[in-house]
Amino acid sequence: MINFDQLKQVISENESFLITTHVNPDADALGSEIALYLILRELGKNTRIINYSETPYNLVFLDKLGVIEIYDEIKHNSVFNSTDVVIAVDFNRSDRVVSMKKALVESTAFKLCIDHHLEPEFIWDYVFIDSIYSSCGEIIYDFIKKTAIVTLTYELAYPLYAAIMTDTGSFRFERTTQELHLIAAEMLRLGVIPGEVFDKIYDQSKFGKFKLLGRALNSMKLYGDDLSVSYMVLTRNDFLETGGLESDTDGVVNFALSVENVKIGILFVELSEGFKVSFRSKGSVDVNKLAAEFGGGGHVNASGARFHKGTLSELIPQVLNKAFQYTTKEG
Ligand code: 5GP
Ligand code: MN
Repeated sequence: MINFDQLKQVISENESFLITTHVNPDADALGSEIALYLILRELGKNTRIINYSETPYNLVFLDKLGVIEIYDEIKHNSVFNSTDVVIAVDFNRSDRVVSMKKALVESTAFKLCIDHHLEPEFIWDYVFIDSIYSSCGEIIYDFIKKTAIVTLTYELAYPLYAAIMTDTGSFRFERTTQELHLIAAEMLRLGVIPGEVFDKIYDQSKFGKFKLLGRALNSMKLYGDDLSVSYMVLTRNDFLETGGLESDTDGVVNFALSVENVKIGILFVELSEGFKVSFRSKGSVDVNKLAAEFGGGGHVNASGARFHKGTLSELIPQVLNKAFQYTTKEG
């Protein structure tokens, strides 16, 4: 249970806020940041959004006001100390902000975390975390409703709808409840058009994204005695040759899980420095614990980890072997 009254109190007792989110932000991260920004602005608070990553091209429309700033050590480190409060949205572990970690951890401001992931790090002064929520967008919605801190308007509902829609896989993942559909219904009543939001996020992609997806699908292999692990690999070459971007890999891992009998789907992505591995699973197969074995985390059915050294040929067998063990573990 999240103590929304406490969140409201911290907001009312402070004047300046810095909102931030994780590397490669998704629509939940950005939609929640924007909604929170609008709430704080309406309350007359001095608010900035500073993110480690650039906003992916298909999500720029969420930042209608153009207020998101991209982290620059020289320009922004002082802001982490001069602000009253830092609000972390959609992540709870400082390694999720890569080289901005130092500024966050060493910030002298109150550190708040609003999130729906498991196992937070112990760096926060206040935590507003509950993994029962489908998305951070749903947490912000609940905050507005339970505290009446502001009125829910179309301007707020729009980014929050984008947040909820994307984090529920367009209303199909486990946390898609009756209550969540009622929340969506309320947002539609306020004027949100589902097809419009979906089109902007998923149907305005650059051509290279599909070429990259083709490479990923082509690389798909099955692993394990019972072929219950499916994996795909994207190398630097795939990015260079297709023109696809790292943000274009969002959602690609789900294809690995769409194969019959597969319990764990994995996507290996070679970054300019190191590797990112995404895990997806069905039912009680716990890929949060699997990712944690490699220093990552996330949710029971969706998680990820980053690797800073080694090669793909060392990494892949090691991860597959561990993943296969998890296909037989009860969560
Ligand atoms: P994705 O594979 O879509 O990037 O991430 C799936 C989930 O795993 C997200 O909820 C995200 O927060 C979490 N996740 C992804 N990468 C990492 C990571 O390196 N560390 C942690 N702690 N969580 C991650
Ligand atoms: Mn989220």
